[in-house]
Amino acid sequence: MGFVHSVAMKRIALLGATGSIGRQALEIIDGHPRLELVAAASGSQPIDGLAPLTQVGGDLTELLERAQPDVVLNAVVGFAGLPATLWALERGVDLALANKESLVAAGDLATAAQRRGGGRLLPVDSEHSAAYQCLEERRPEGVHSLVLTASGGPFRGRSREELTDVGPEDALAHPTWSMGPKITIDSATLMNKGLEVIEAHHLFAIPYDAIEVVVHPQSIVHGMVRFRDGALLAHAGLPDMRVPISWALTHPGREATSVPALDLTRPLSLDFEPVDVETFRCLALAREAGAAGGTAPCVLNAANEVAVGAFLEGRIGFLDIAAVVEEALARVPAEPVESLEQVLDADRRARAAAAGAGAAAA
Ligand code: NAD
Ligand code: MG
Repeated sequence: MGFVHSVAMKRIALLGATGSIGRQALEIIDGHPRLELVAAASGSQPIDGLAPLTQVGGDLTELLERAQPDVVLNAVVGFAGLPATLWALERGVDLALANKESLVAAGDLATAAQRRGGGRLLPVDSEHSAAYQCLEERRPEGVHSLVLTASGGPFRGRSREELTDVGPEDALAHPTWSMGPKITIDSATLMNKGLEVIEAHHLFAIPYDAIEVVVHPQSIVHGMVRFRDGALLAHAGLPDMRVPISWALTHPGREATSVPALDLTRPLSLDFEPVDVETFRCLALAREAGAAGGTAPCVLNAANEVAVGAFLEGRIGFLDIAAVVEEALARVPAEPVESLEQVLDADRRARAAAAGAGAAAA
């Protein structure tokens, strides 16, 4: 008996098609005969003709209703990605998730929607894709903890004093990954790793104290899982988002990509070091918001989006980003999340608080 090949097409809706993840996803879809792009959306750039159905801005769930895709690849940046995440999870449509902000802001709602919908939530974030693969088919009781790696960003090793005057150009110069501007700033503040800790908590239903973060400047090991017997499984490869994008879109097939394999015939060093949470306050703030739960991660995320915007426009300094987030968390107290309205309201209040704190810092 030969192997049975599934010839079914996967019909994909790509949200955020003009972004860094979106463009790399188009390359993966183009290179794979069984992946069919049925719908595409962007925030503001025209995308006529990119897919049979396209939409620029507006309510992305309208596009998804028309397209009825098999897979939604959510590569929108920021809280704007939330309705699409909930749409897919509620309906049991496979969700390939790059938009971590939606899971951070509404993790409890998203996991409840996934339980009802019964579809798959496949992370595109490289650390979570790595952890998912290290965890696949393993008994949860054998797991000790997850380890998320961080490159450390362009300011690794610097003191607070050395960060007072850094500007957007300095922060946008990421050493190992080429990404959109918002996540690049989040990588410089380490808020990206903070958002990822909260993302991992929801994706893997794992307590915060079992999620470690370690700085690994080469970005070769993307994620690891420690088991209670002392074994540590690691996922390694060149830093190239086409690998986790392809993994999520072709799951469980693990189809070929044009990404080169890691060359082990040349010298390769892998360094690991602890995070300096005193300097990179955002990671500590994210852990605090995660532990507080309820609307706190939503407030953290919203305030961060406002602060990053203000920093990119030159209105506040680099260290003010953490200060603005901390102020918003203090001004908008955490409440348990029972509805989407409550999350939308917390997001609005956090944005107002952050704008106030940002104006005071400017
Ligand atoms: P980007 O800024 O390059 O692209 C963002 C995309 O979202 C664009 O297509 C933009 O038009 C679209 N968009 C923005 N607002 C929208 C709205 N209201 N409605 C519809 N579309 C909207 O960002 P990116 O770097 O591709 O990141 C996208 C997401 O993936 C983010 O959540 C980011 O954290 C996550 N992510 C990115 C990377 C990476 O390597 N770039 C890695 C891991 C996770
Ligand atoms: Mg990541």
